Amino acid sequence: MTAVQVADGVWRLPTAPADLVNSYLLAGDDGSLVLLDAGTRRAPARLLAALAGLGRAREDVTHLLLSHAHLDHAGGAHAVQAATASAVLTHEREAVYVREGRMPAPDRSTRGGRLLHRLPKRVTGFRALEVSSTFNDGEVLPLAGGLLVVHTPGHTPGHCSFLHPSSGVLLTGDALFNVRRIRWSVAGPCTDVRLSRTSAARLGELDFAVAGFIHGPHVADGAQAAVRAFLAGRPS
Ligand SMILES: [Zn+2]
Repeated sequence: MTAVQVADGVWRLPTAPADLVNSYLLAGDDGSLVLLDAGTRRAPARLLAALAGLGRAREDVTHLLLSHAHLDHAGGAHAVQAATASAVLTHEREAVYVREGRMPAPDRSTRGGRLLHRLPKRVTGFRALEVSSTFNDGEVLPLAGGLLVVHTPGHTPGHCSFLHPSSGVLLTGDALFNVRRIRWSVAGPCTDVRLSRTSAARLGELDFAVAGFIHGPHVADGAQAAVRAFLAGRPS
């Protein structure tokens, strides 16, 4: 699976067939790279191959950002960090789960949540890893020319989306999926399903040209209108 350029200095790195799981790579002017999310435990080899395909060295990845502590985002994080020696960053409220390699307890108001709740950590968890530093809502991370943290809790307590103003790319994390169409995330793993829906409304207030999703292909044309229409209950 090869990297797909979504904007100037931003690539989507698919790690599962049919764009079902993606990571994103953002380049800074100094040549350093930031990776958002590390896929499942199968993803690291694919991510490193995509990096090589772009002609970049592992050591160029200076930072690994984790949108949240689910196994399809953080499952490959330990191996990617080990291969790149990158600093690992996540939201303040998500760090404990990353450090312990476990998903936050799901909302038991859904059937999927109750099912996940009963599964052991060896099934729902991932390999724990150190978090170098944490961030909070509204911070502009000094990475890839500036990356705005947009806290979108409810999928998990510290779930974040990111806006990269210099390229016009919004990275939704799991606040929204784009599997066949723009849609809500799967409810089962959410810690607070209702909050995940209401907090996603923040994405409609942002200015962006391209929307990048972890699950599903990115949208390069009319992304802002499509996201706003979905959030307003008028899916395109
Ligand atoms: Zn998730």
